[in-house]
Amino acid sequence: MQLQDVECPSCGAPVANLPHPSAAGTPGEALFHCRFCGTQVDLNRALCPHCALLNRERERSCGRCGSQIVRVCPFCKQENWAGNESCIQCGRTLDLLEIMIQPASRDTRARLEAQRRQARLLKAQEEHASEARLARLWEMEHQRVEGIARDTGEKQRRERLVLAGIVLVIAFTVLLVIGVLVVSGLGS
Ligand SMILES: [Zn+2]
Ligand SMILES: [Zn+2]
Ligand SMILES: [Zn+2]
Repeated sequence: MQLQDVECPSCGAPVANLPHPSAAGTPGEALFHCRFCGTQVDLNRALCPHCALLNRERERSCGRCGSQIVRVCPFCKQENWAGNESCIQCGRTLDLLEIMIQPASRDTRARLEAQRRQARLLKAQEEHASEARLARLWEMEHQRVEGIARDTGEKQRRERLVLAGIVLVIAFTVLLVIGVLVVSGLGS
């Protein structure tokens, strides 16, 4: 901020030796008197910390660049000049509020951040869904393979049973024939 660029809001006279808005007698008040026209303004409500325009009194935002002139301390609710680095009442740092000086860029940033968050959420949900889909496919494939194995096992067991039956029948027949032969041999 260039002090020689600051002009009286009423008469346009260049202003020199401006007190810093935070150097206030009473909290939130830093009075400036124009030595040419006598206009009195409260710098805490008139001086733009961004473009150094001295606005007319009781402005909350700059008439030229739109920057905030007044910031409310989030801790003690004291109104501060937006260019202050710390609260004039509680002394806590106001740096966290830096983005509040530029409401437009803050909104853009917030919107971008919200969009990014939304995109991350969607991506996570999508990944989760595809994982679930993959798991379901995997489970189905697993069951299919298991089913085939079960069917094959069943078939083999049946085949073995049939084979065992055939062997039993043959053995029985052979035994029967031998028995008959033996009996007929004994008889003769
Ligand atoms: Zn003046
Ligand atoms: Zn401004
Ligand atoms: Zn405070």
